[in-house]
Amino acid sequence: MVEAELGVLAGVEDDVVAAEHVYTDPDQAVEFVERTGCDSLAIAIGTSHGAFKFPPDYEPQLRFDILEEIQRKLPNFPIVLHGASAVDPETVEMCNKFGGNIANAKGIPVEMLRKAASMAVCKINMDTDLRLAMTAAIRKVFAENPAEFDPRKYLGAGRDAIQKVVEYKIENVLGSANRL
Ligand SMILES: [Zn+2]
Repeated sequence: MVEAELGVLAGVEDDVVAAEHVYTDPDQAVEFVERTGCDSLAIAIGTSHGAFKFPPDYEPQLRFDILEEIQRKLPNFPIVLHGASAVDPETVEMCNKFGGNIANAKGIPVEMLRKAASMAVCKINMDTDLRLAMTAAIRKVFAENPAEFDPRKYLGAGRDAIQKVVEYKIENVLGSANRL
């Protein structure tokens, strides 16, 4: 199973740092899929890797026109979005309340992700949301119970937080509840 990425998402992924978006060109996407034989393709339509996706005053936008064109030119081909965490402000606030220092984190609005998932997008990567949820939960345990040193306790809280996020995403973002 090979998942490729075409176009450039601003932000940091592994050791790759990119300052600006380069939206995926639909014709290039067709040629790329045909020539590589990849199984799925991550495209750049305005998502961004990491927690600090956009400047504080920027309104995130996804280029649904590009997604539509790719969908039309590659019918039934699985499209992927990377850098598609919603970055829930309450979770960031909880991190910061319990000793964190995460400023200006901003993500993609849930309604936009939901719309993308109802189109050709079959997989949405949102690791930042899981990282934030786990960190917030563990910070809370440590802040409220400074004597805690049993990983089964604080990691348990982290695991529960992740489960909650995943359940929420399945229902409200991916729309994949009860589907195989
Ligand atoms: Zn990526």
